Amino acid sequence: MDRIKIQELKVFAHHGVFDFEKAQGQNFFVNATLFLPLQKAGRTDALEETVNYAAVCDDIVNEMQGKNYDLIEAAAEAVCVCLLNKYPRLQQVDLEIRKPEAPLDADFSSVSVYISRKRHRTYIAFGANLGDPLAQISAAKEAINADASCKILRSSEIIKTMPYGGVEQDDFVNGAFLIETLYEPEELLDFLHCVEQMQGRVRDVVWGPRTLDLDILLFDRLVYESERLFIPHRDMKNRDFVLEPLASLTPDFCHPVTGQTI
Ligand code: ADP
Ligand code: MG
Repeated sequence: MDRIKIQELKVFAHHGVFDFEKAQGQNFFVNATLFLPLQKAGRTDALEETVNYAAVCDDIVNEMQGKNYDLIEAAAEAVCVCLLNKYPRLQQVDLEIRKPEAPLDADFSSVSVYISRKRHRTYIAFGANLGDPLAQISAAKEAINADASCKILRSSEIIKTMPYGGVEQDDFVNGAFLIETLYEPEELLDFLHCVEQMQGRVRDVVWGPRTLDLDILLFDRLVYESERLFIPHRDMKNRDFVLEPLASLTPDFCHPVTGQTI
């Protein structure tokens, strides 16, 4: 993809683990690569068709100076999240922060962190059958939208469904969200578990009653497996209460393994 590169942007800021680094400050150098399509800007010669790199430089400086972090990792994360949220045209931001004056007892020219962050599209199933399900779902929506790394793009209708898995319990309400996120899959799962916990989720009975369940159904076209996470969701093909809302959002999405549409 096309890109705009900003090289060696010098920023005086106050990041570091030591108190004197926060008090005195030092020079940092930022390299940023912004990924976005540039054909239209190239053909029309119009600034509105691209991202203004002067504005981006200001944003980087403001973000680097707005808060004093212990770690340049944290500063880099904040800059990437800021740029991706502010400029919808950006698909990805690669960012390096160099710290050539780092207080090290060694002969070195520079130390740096380099991170790459991009937008992802993910479909999340929600379900609840304890407490006040509709209130919990609407609180979950607010919590997701309040997070700087997540935004709900679309929500399905909420449907009433019968419990699944043979445990005697109240009916469920279910649905699905399309979310744009800057999280990677494992981080997204941690975040969704936090949202579940905020709504009083306790895991005792498998397939038992819950105040809120949030499952990752699809994540871009990723196929992923770890000890705690399967993407696409392993059981989604057996669950009408998942497929129905998902089909209302994206009927033609092809499952990345089976090739079947929703
Ligand atoms: P379920 O959603 O299957 O009814 P839980 O919400 O209790 O049950 O989830 C049990 C575990 O499933 C979670 O702790 C999580 O680690 C794991 N898991 C595996 N794949 C996924 C996924 N795609 N989305 C959410 N959780 C998943
Ligand atoms: Mg779950």
